[in-house]
Amino acid sequence: LIVAAYFLQEVKNLDKIDIHEHIKDIGQAERVLKIMDDLHIEKMVLLGTPSLTFHEKTDKFEKYDEHNEKMLEIKEKYPDRFSVFVTINPEDKDAAKKLENYSIRGASGLKLYHGVIPSLGHINSSEMYEVYENCKELNLPVIIHVELLNATQMEEFRRVIEDFPDVKFNCPHLCGSATRLEILSKLLDSYPNLTTDMGPWHRVGKYAVNNTQQFREFFIKYQDRIMFATDIVLDETWESDSLVREWFECGINLLEKKYFTCYKEEGRILEGLNLPTEVLEKIYLINPTKFVENI
Ligand SMILES: [Zn+2]
Repeated sequence: LIVAAYFLQEVKNLDKIDIHEHIKDIGQAERVLKIMDDLHIEKMVLLGTPSLTFHEKTDKFEKYDEHNEKMLEIKEKYPDRFSVFVTINPEDKDAAKKLENYSIRGASGLKLYHGVIPSLGHINSSEMYEVYENCKELNLPVIIHVELLNATQMEEFRRVIEDFPDVKFNCPHLCGSATRLEILSKLLDSYPNLTTDMGPWHRVGKYAVNNTQQFREFFIKYQDRIMFATDIVLDETWESDSLVREWFECGINLLEKKYFTCYKEEGRILEGLNLPTEVLEKIYLINPTKFVENI
């Protein structure tokens, strides 16, 4: 019966905005366009990304200016399909000026890596407060990596979202809360300027399929606060296009199906969230459009 249900249920092919992906260059973006068409991803938000995220052998936050430029070029060539969240290092003397220029040139928001690259420092440093102030003035939403299970990060971030109620924050991958969704619930209940996203598989999907009931209730309760993303890090090391496609399908199937398979969990039939259409429409389209006004 389970197997029959798995084969019968189709995805709904709803229009989607994907709020969080790392794409190395225009070659990889053009590769992903065909997959976006097939999966009804109308638009993808590309994040300015340091070289270490693309597995370059360094632990420093570097080569982000170059990557921002590459992403803005992609948006220029395909303005209907891609938007860009640039990244900056708040310790750069010209950080504020850079951000303003990026905004003028069409960047839709800012991505910060403070919770995942320790050398960048604290989430609530004075340099960071200047950046949040700039974002407020420029009306730029912020995607910032925060690990809620880290007590220091949690408290620093809580202060930031409290001190900047006019700045919209996406704390991605359910804020790193794994199965401790009650911690994220508290923040979402307290701060209306906070949203989250559901990528990547190893930070969200993997937990969701083993705690389906808990995650389904969470996604329904916070249907206005969660956005679609798969958080791929796409470069030439992905040899197979079909595997890239499957990566995105794992995320979509997780949201839509009652039973599905994903190559990340080989040999298993997984229990998905099987969310109602009106909830999917919010996660796929309505919430991202509210988060990024000039998407
Ligand atoms: Zn990411």
